[in-house]
Amino acid sequence: MGDQIVLRNVTKRFSTKTMGDIVAVDNFNINVKEGECFSFLGPSGCGKSTTLRMIAGFEDLSEGEIELCGQLVSSKSKNLYVPPEKRGLGMVFQAFAVWPHMNVFENVAFPLRIQKVNNMDINQKVAEALKHTSLTGLEKVYPSELSGGQQQRIALARAIVTNPKVMLLDEPLSNLDPKLRESMRFEIKALQRKFNFTIIFVTHDQSEAMAISDRMMVCDMGKIMQIDTPENLYNKPVNRFVHNFLGESTFVEVVIKDGKVYPKGHMDQNININIPSNASNEMVIATRPNEISLTKETDGFKTHIEKRTFLTDRTEYLVPIGGQLLKVQTPHRIRFEQNEECFIKFVEPMWYEADDKEAEKERHKRQLI
Ligand code: ATP
Repeated sequence: MGDQIVLRNVTKRFSTKTMGDIVAVDNFNINVKEGECFSFLGPSGCGKSTTLRMIAGFEDLSEGEIELCGQLVSSKSKNLYVPPEKRGLGMVFQAFAVWPHMNVFENVAFPLRIQKVNNMDINQKVAEALKHTSLTGLEKVYPSELSGGQQQRIALARAIVTNPKVMLLDEPLSNLDPKLRESMRFEIKALQRKFNFTIIFVTHDQSEAMAISDRMMVCDMGKIMQIDTPENLYNKPVNRFVHNFLGESTFVEVVIKDGKVYPKGHMDQNININIPSNASNEMVIATRPNEISLTKETDGFKTHIEKRTFLTDRTEYLVPIGGQLLKVQTPHRIRFEQNEECFIKFVEPMWYEADDKEAEKERHKRQLI
């Protein structure tokens, strides 16, 4: 299967009054395959929506080019720009919810009217789209008389009515309650299977992205951090940011001295662990809280239980390691009391470079912390 959405060296800069010049999207290279569900994931301000808006044609590029279904639609160097209505996309954007002054039929028929499709074809295509989104019979009803889930289905019906090859979904489920979100996810995937369109899905919600995506891009402050399958992103995050962003994480800053690993600032007890060959003197060890071995055997890093919290399906302990607090989660059968002595061992943790000071500065500049 070929690439259906291609971004080559795409950059977008904004000049802002309060934050100065911002590189909202910094040299993005993305290839999305035909029929793939690809998510953009990252914290607020990372550049997800700007990228989507450039693909849709609502935003010009500062540099680079975009190709959709083998056709160049935006190119800075060639001064080429195909307007949104000529890009053949289906879109469900949070900001473009359904139109309250139009009934269900007219909401769904709208993109066809813009394309000047004849009335007979409109009737047939709208009926088909309503059937696939379980809205048949509600043609004359106004959106305000319908539930949130039904309103979202109107937006979906309006997006599929032109039979697009590419569907852009920007936080399409964010106004729905958690149960409805989950069932709408399945509906979107079912529609995708039926119509075989390619999806770009933008969300803040990592579990939603993991559930729906074939591959995901994690970005931060306008930079791509990693593109991979949900499983690889979770199991092999390339840096501390991705590790922390997907799933629960716990970190220990360490110093390596004479072939031994110590918690930073506390050289009295070392952590018995294999050091990767490329490690520098200051590193961060990252692991999932449920992947740390916590025992009463005198084996491992000696410490104690600082705090114990009962979670529904596991117990969480905060355990000091040097001056830092490590989060450890165990099944309920492994039980420690407050202040009890314990020993911890790391099971194949990930190693990352110590904190990136430049990233911290940029985060401050963008008023994100
Ligand atoms: P959110 O999840 O909050 O929507 P996002 O990841 O979609 O965030 P963008 O909306 O793409 O992020 O914004 C990326 C950066 O570009 C932010 O720092 C934002 O302030 C800035 N930005 C976006 N649009 C404009 C604009 N029209 N003018 C100036 N700056 C902008």
